[in-house]
Amino acid sequence: MTIPTPVSHPTPLSLLSDASSRLEKALQYVTLSKDALDRLKYPKAGLTVSIPVRMDDGSLRVFQGYRVRYDDTRGPGKGGVRYHPNVSLDEVQSLAFWMTFKCALLNLPFGGAKGGITVNPKELSRQELERLSRGYVDAIADFIGPDIDILAPDVYTNAMVMGWMMDQYSIIKRKASPGVVTGKPLALGGSEGRDTATAMGAFNVIKTLLPLFEQYPSNTTVAIQGFGKAGAALASLLDGAGYRIVAVSDSQGGIYAPQGLDIPKIRSYKRDRQSIQSLYCHDTVCDMGEQEIISNEDLLKLDVDVLIPAALENQITAANAADIRARYIFEVANGPTTSAADQILDAHGVLVFPDILVNAGGVTVSYFEWVQNRNGLYWTAEEVRDRLATRIVAEAKATWAIAQDHKISMRTAAYVHALNRLGQALDAKGTQDYYNQTP
Ligand code: NAD
Repeated sequence: MTIPTPVSHPTPLSLLSDASSRLEKALQYVTLSKDALDRLKYPKAGLTVSIPVRMDDGSLRVFQGYRVRYDDTRGPGKGGVRYHPNVSLDEVQSLAFWMTFKCALLNLPFGGAKGGITVNPKELSRQELERLSRGYVDAIADFIGPDIDILAPDVYTNAMVMGWMMDQYSIIKRKASPGVVTGKPLALGGSEGRDTATAMGAFNVIKTLLPLFEQYPSNTTVAIQGFGKAGAALASLLDGAGYRIVAVSDSQGGIYAPQGLDIPKIRSYKRDRQSIQSLYCHDTVCDMGEQEIISNEDLLKLDVDVLIPAALENQITAANAADIRARYIFEVANGPTTSAADQILDAHGVLVFPDILVNAGGVTVSYFEWVQNRNGLYWTAEEVRDRLATRIVAEAKATWAIAQDHKISMRTAAYVHALNRLGQALDAKGTQDYYNQTP
């Protein structure tokens, strides 16, 4: 039998990696103490666990799980739990790092965390998935908590999984603990508006910033890559506000109609048939107007005003950035643009509005869910919507002001804004300068 190599303890983040090169740019515009910078190079804590699961056929499988709390200076850790075959400690650590910045940018009283299990959940039965989810919480229960580190859904986890996790934690602690997990079903203490929060946040950012360039619904065309929870809900919001959505796509391809797409009809077909392309494959629906089937790669290159990547990471790269004809990119997906592509887009005058701002509606309403759980008083959908709008619009405007002041990109401005808050919190505990002052 071969003994697996033990997973190493979280290592210091390399400031040379693609992700942190963006941070390095932002550092030029922030007065950050060396103490704060040194602190941010290291994750605060990381846990690797083995989760034994009794499978339906009676066999035992042992899964690897992780939880990393990158920084909790501004409050308890906050971040999703990902179920994916590629999950590794390194990946979880990088995602926890970005959560730290997203929470600081939105001024949420949270630090950054992330978790995951190396598993293909599609291979498990529902019962096995439940045992795995409860086993994960058994393994990390001492590492999390409503005041320590709060879980949420991420790739291939959903409200059902969050409900199991909250229930398991409550069983272990022998008390109802809804605040340990957000993104729960409404019936188990979830928040109104959580399911559409990411789209609603992005919609507010778009509505706030586009008019600065004299782009209004009536004169703005939009292409959206990814028609899932975030992309489809955002398509409906933009469509409802009068923007002309000319192209959408999913993993099977896309559709394009310069005169504008019928979004409600596409959503209902997608719901029924799980694909956008099915619109063309069935005579019954081909009377919807003149639409063209396009590839995802084509969608990215369309001559539109606004491009919204809402599917996967690394979609706009050095290989295709020069072909982008949109003038504004709003990143709903996490990490859709590489840093090499950023430079090319910048040189071509394409304005990129970064993921940590544009998709932060989800974590913001997660914060609202946590607040409601702690107070035991629940808000209406309108209250959630209004509070989200107030917060994300304020941070979008503040980020724009920083970008203007320093003449820097919105991405760098977002990191500057987040770093300022993180630096202040870290320095409030004392710096070398403080301790070296003579009394
Ligand atoms: P989802 O799984 O509901 O939807 C993903 C969509 O992308 C699906 O329509 C899928 O068919 C499509 N897709 C997959 N591969 C594609 C490809 N190669 N080209 C085009 N489309 C493709 O996921 P989601 O929750 O909507 O998340 C989408 C992105 O938004 C992810 O990057 C996610 O991290 C980010 N995000 C989501 C939330 C949220 O609350 N849902 C919050 C923050 C960030």
